[in-house]
Order: sequence, then C-alpha cells, then structure tokens
Amino acid sequence: MPELPEVETIKLGLEAKIKGLKIEKIQILTAKSFSGAIASITGAKISTVARRAKLLLIGLDNNKTIIIHLKMTGQLILEASSQQQGARIIGGHPTTNMFSVLPNSTTRAVFNLSDGSKLFFNDQRMFGWIKVVNNDQLPIINQKLGPEPLGEEFSWTLLKTQLLKRKATPVKVVLMDQEIVAGIGNIYASEACFIAGLDPRRKVLTITDGDFQRLHQGVIQSLTESLKQGGSTRSHFKNINGERGNFLEHAFVYGKNGQPCKVCAVDVEKVTLGGRGTYLCSQCQK
Ligand SMILES: [Zn+2]
Repeated sequence: MPELPEVETIKLGLEAKIKGLKIEKIQILTAKSFSGAIASITGAKISTVARRAKLLLIGLDNNKTIIIHLKMTGQLILEASSQQQGARIIGGHPTTNMFSVLPNSTTRAVFNLSDGSKLFFNDQRMFGWIKVVNNDQLPIINQKLGPEPLGEEFSWTLLKTQLLKRKATPVKVVLMDQEIVAGIGNIYASEACFIAGLDPRRKVLTITDGDFQRLHQGVIQSLTESLKQGGSTRSHFKNINGERGNFLEHAFVYGKNGQPCKVCAVDVEKVTLGGRGTYLCSQCQK
C-alpha cells in the first residue's frame, strides 16, 4: 500500500498538471469504487491537490473535495491528450497494464479534464475508493487521523504522547496506526525502528525517552529519504519511461531478509508481527 512518501510523490506529480483544470466529465465504470453525486462535481474547477495521511485530496472551487485512497492495488494515471507532449504520470501499485491502452479491465473511474487530459483510477482488487465530500466534513476526517510526521508540530514528545495511547502494543504496530501517526505503513515503520536501534516487537511501555527521541529521528529520516528517492519502487512508478521511486534500494531492513545488515553485517531477519512481515537486525535492534 502506498505510504506517505508514495502518496506525496503522486500529489506533487498531479498538482503540477491538474490544478486549475475543470472536470468536464466523469465516467464511473465500477459503482463500488465511487461514492458521491457525479453532477455535484461536473464542471467544477480543481483548486488544490493535497495529501493527508495516505489520502489524496482534490479540492474543488465549489466547496467540495474528492478524496482518493489507493489502498492495496489502486493506481492513478494521468494521460495527456493526443495533441499534448508528455509522458503519463503514474502512481500506485505497479502492473504491466498501467503502461498500455486505457481504460483497461481494472479501470473504475475516468475524469475528463478541460485540457483534454484524462485521469484514470484503476484498482484491480477494488479495496481503494473515491469519495466526494462537502468541505465541512474535512475536519471530521482530519480529527480521526494522527499528526503528520513531517509536520512542524511533530516533536519527539508528541510522538511519545501518541504512542503511549497503546502502551501494551508492540511499537511497530502502533506506528502503523493511522490514528496515532498519519501516513506510516509497513515499510517506514520497519525502517524507523531500525534507525532508532529499537526491536519492533518492544511494547511501547518499555521504551525510554532516549528511544522515543531516536524513533522520532528514525521516522523523519526514513520518510524524508524516501521522498528524495520518489517513494518506493514497489508502490510507485513516476512515469512511463520507467523512472521509478527507488527508496527500497536505500532501505536498511525492509525486504532485506537474508542479506547482511548495512551497519553490522549480521543477516537481516524477517518475522511476523501483527500479521505483517517485519524486518529487523537482531544485532542492531534491542
Ligand atoms: Zn545490524
């Protein structure tokens, strides 16, 4: 599932292209993937493209917002009109057919924009969704989400306060709870624990202030590094030329089981924690 850096990368790519355009027509090919009234957003102009946690928020000039959650297999593909130059902007779960003719069998919705471009929402397994909400609902959605880890207010003490809400739970599992900290999933929770030298299985109540400080640093460092790399290869392709996010090549432990730890050369292990594959170095993480 795309996490904060992957959704942020998609946001930046789309923002540069669709801000200021009008939505001329919307085709819903799978009713389950879309909720809201098509008529209420047809003809509206896109005024903002933003991200909150793992959600993409397309703000319109009529007090409505289109919220998109890609979940496991969602993709957003912006295709320029035939008169325009430029590659497709592609984000989300990679598949080979995301490079071929659209719509395809996984296309759930198509937005026709005023410059002739089309934004396709594809989703093989249909866990993802698009929702149209009135802007007065945004504070309610916002309240259910924890602080943004790259926001100014995200201090180590705030991280500590948030994590202590689930003190009897392993720290990595709590880091992935969207109500505790927004936007962190399996990749960055594993990486942050490694950078902090913290065994991801440790219960929050056993963590010291020094650990919280290192974990805070680990969260910021892993997310920032990934943003620099354009997200992770597994969940994001930047464009049709195959320019991809390559964060996973720079990862310390995620997906590295059986390979030597970059710090101490002991083999990275894979364990299951909270039902998810979890990577750690038993030498570096205590
Ligand atoms: Zn190590």
